[in-house]
Parts: sequence; C-alpha cells; structure tokens
Amino acid sequence: MLLDYEQPLYRPPSEASNLILQITIGCRFNQCSFCAMYKHKEYRLKSLDEIQHDINKARQFAPATTRIFLADGDAFNLSSDQLLSILELLQAAFPALTRVSCYATPANISAKTSAQLSLLRDNKLSLIYLGIESGSDTLLKKISKGASKNSIIRSLKMADAARIKVSATIILGLGGQQYSREHIAETISLLNLAPVTYLSTLQLFLDESSRTEFLNKFSGTFIEQSDAGILHELSALVSQLEPPKRIIFRTNHASNALALAGNLPKDKTRLTTEISQALDSPRLLTARSLRSL
Ligand code: SF4
Repeated sequence: MLLDYEQPLYRPPSEASNLILQITIGCRFNQCSFCAMYKHKEYRLKSLDEIQHDINKARQFAPATTRIFLADGDAFNLSSDQLLSILELLQAAFPALTRVSCYATPANISAKTSAQLSLLRDNKLSLIYLGIESGSDTLLKKISKGASKNSIIRSLKMADAARIKVSATIILGLGGQQYSREHIAETISLLNLAPVTYLSTLQLFLDESSRTEFLNKFSGTFIEQSDAGILHELSALVSQLEPPKRIIFRTNHASNALALAGNLPKDKTRLTTEISQALDSPRLLTARSLRSL
C-alpha cells in the first residue's frame, strides 16, 4: 500500500527501500537555475493532522520501519520546533526507528542554532542531503544557489558539530568548459576545509524547462563539457581531495558517465587509475542515451 503522494516525488537513490513521508510539498527556495524538480509545485507545509494521517497509514503496512526520508525538496527549512513535533510523532509510531533524513540547504542549516541541531540529532534526524554543487562563488551566483563557499563551509561544520551526517553532491560540468578549472579548484578547496560523510557527483543535465534560465546566466558563453572534460574534472577532484574526515565517495548516480565507488583519500590511486582507463577507452562509459537525472 502506498501513501497518497503529491507527484512528482523525488528522493535520494539510497533511500529507495525506506519509508518516504511527504511533510512539505515542493521546495520553498525553488530558485536554483539548474533544477527543474519542483518548478511546477507550489510550496506548502502539510498540517500536523495530514502528517499524522500519513503516519497512521504507513504504520499499518510497515510498523517495523527503521528509516524514514522526509520529502519534498528542502524539508529542513521547517523550524526546529516544527521538525521536533514531527520527529516526536514518528518516534511514537515507529518504535524501531533509527534514522530520519531529508534534503537541506546551507541557509536552513545555518538558520538553526547549534543547540537546535543537536536536539534534532538526538531525536533521530541524523542524515541530511545537501547540494554543494560547486565551491566557486562565481558559479554559485550564476546558478542562484542562495549560498556562498563560506556559507556552505559554515553549515557543514555546524552539521558535523551536531553529529548530523551530511551526504553532499557536486555537479560535474556545472561551469561548462569556461569555468571548469575554477569550478573544480574551488570545490576541492571547500571539501578540504569542511567535513562531509558521503560525497556523490552528478553530471550537469539540463531539463528543457530549466535550460534557458540556466544558459542566460552565462550570457551565451556556456560550452558544455565533453565526456573527456568531465573525466578530467573527476580525476582532479579525486586526486587532490585531502578531506578533514574520511569520505565515502560514489559516482553511481544515473547522470554520470562513469560509476566509481571508494573511500577518500584512501582509494585515490585506484580511482584515478579507473578514470585514466576510461579516458583511454571511452567504451567503458555509460552511453549518453542511458544517462538521466
Ligand atoms: S536544488 Fe534543491 S534547493 Fe535548489 S531549487 Fe532544487 S530542490 Fe530547491
């Protein structure tokens, strides 16, 4: 039995087998120029009654639920009190609950105090998914991310201090060919200063509904990265990362040309070798027609 989701419903690939509970509809921020996910959804918070109704329904078919993902786009924008009320309902309904997760933005992490973040963590909200996208302030501005390199670093450090794990994504090819060097250098610099537990790459994929808005910010100068250019970005990233804590690294999202998995910095040599082999043998890459967001 499924809950009555308001479609489209997105969740991280790693949450596929977990209960998805829609506590907000859409994304309150909804301004990132590359993102078309919630362009047609008007943002709203579901009432506690609506949420309780969904919880009651979910409890009927999955009473032993251990992990819950709170949808939609940036559920972490709710106030600490609102989130705590929902976490209390979840803990009462699912005694075996071990982890609650949701998407977050740098701004809505920083809007909470350290004490509030710790309290959320103590109530099982222990993983957030955060789109870093890039460490380049030039690109963060062009994509209307609503964050700077420094604000992202600050938010990552706050989450880490509260023992909330962060699963972060960056977007390869985000700066096209023109900003590639700056994009990767600044992203490495950011990740070498701020701890994340998981790091995944996406490859830039522009939906028809977001393409014009995205390209307009580059004033006609955007040249899409080739597969070889993407692999060079990936190689630079992997080889130059010296993160403050071990990173579990994956490029297995469906948008990527090459799927990699390892721990950084430990597996640098193996991963860079795999990238070199793919540069020499493009047949190792996933066909473009099979990639998607
Ligand atoms: S990338 Fe995230 S924060 Fe930005 S518009 Fe999309 S869902 Fe909202």
